[in-house]
Amino acid sequence: MKIHEYQAKELLRQYGVPTPRGVACFSVDEALTAAQQLGGSVWVVKAQIHAGGRGKGGGVKVAKSLDEVRAHAQAILGMQLVTHQTGPQGQTVRRLLVEEGAAIAREFYLGMVVDRSRQRVALIASSEGGMEIEEVAAHSPEKIKTEWIDPVAGLTDVQADATARAIGLPEAAQADVRAVLQGLYRAFVEKDAMLAEINPLILTADHRVVALDCKFNFDSNALYRHPELVALRDLDEEDPAEVEASKFDLSYIQLDGDIGCLVNGAGLAMATMDIIKLYGGSPANFLDVGGGATTEKVTEAFKLMLRNPKLQAILVNIFGGIMKCDVIAQGVVAAAREVQLTVPLVVRLEGTNVELGKQILAESGLPIISANNMADAAEKVVAAARG
Ligand code: ADP
Ligand code: MG
Repeated sequence: MKIHEYQAKELLRQYGVPTPRGVACFSVDEALTAAQQLGGSVWVVKAQIHAGGRGKGGGVKVAKSLDEVRAHAQAILGMQLVTHQTGPQGQTVRRLLVEEGAAIAREFYLGMVVDRSRQRVALIASSEGGMEIEEVAAHSPEKIKTEWIDPVAGLTDVQADATARAIGLPEAAQADVRAVLQGLYRAFVEKDAMLAEINPLILTADHRVVALDCKFNFDSNALYRHPELVALRDLDEEDPAEVEASKFDLSYIQLDGDIGCLVNGAGLAMATMDIIKLYGGSPANFLDVGGGATTEKVTEAFKLMLRNPKLQAILVNIFGGIMKCDVIAQGVVAAAREVQLTVPLVVRLEGTNVELGKQILAESGLPIISANNMADAAEKVVAAARG
């Protein structure tokens, strides 16, 4: 689960990491009031969406007067902000962060991620922070320094100082950098984060370090023990189909293609998407209905897929292990009737009572295309989607 920059900065403050003063705003009036309250003569008006690259997309603007604050707030609020992380349709801006302008001497990059192969949190740092970090990673990987943090020892002073030195942070800032790195690491661990990023971490003219931007992504599987994080969830930033799916305990991810997939088990769902690709088609979604593919779940799954205007055909690929194929077939037939299916439906069943299941599909009177194995199913659904 992701949160907004202003929420991430509030979290950083709780862990002793310096950030600019700022106020979250939902209207142009609030933005003006916020700038007046903050005082000073330079403000930054920042679009709050759950995607990076806002600066390049026109979602971060410096204002040198209250009139400019108003103009930027007007322009950014409600805009459809397109960045390399939003996809071409962009994301509607509904919230702003108005904060004091910082005097930037240099910009650095700091990130933390779980490195599964090493079973450690990796601390990633670079002297080349700011809006071009993806370029740096692609073309000058030697400018990125990585430290792996021992979970028992935590992020030690020695590691913090080595990182600071490696990326060219001055000795004078050493104590402050330790506070930033160790504060970020504590937040990461205590809040069950999967990713945390401060980009840029800036050095000011008077040698202070300040987090100018911050992102967190938390492990959804740990949210049950963090009600304070769940309270920060912004459903406007999430795919409505995925939000709906989570209500029915379906694992659903919207994709770009036109063939809907309804599968039990994440591994089989991945394999199904692969084989659709192999036969020249393109999946419209990943969907794992889990072990118990009940009529209710299958019905909700059909409804979810049918919301997608691109959808041309559906492939149901179910292995009847715990569930029997005849029960699944009954569920598929009932669900197809209830939603009055308008696109071709290919069904591949395998497992216990498969013959009985196929018979139920054949006798349903519905135009269901039955398939005998995965390749057959993929071939048939790709043809159905084209035809
Ligand atoms: P994004 O990473 O989504 O592009 P950032 O918050 O990193 O958004 O802002 C982009 C750039 O804008 C930063 O790299 C920094 O140069 C500048 N910037 C952001 N916040 C401030 C601020 N409070 N004061 C001065 N400059 C800022
Ligand atoms: Mg940034």
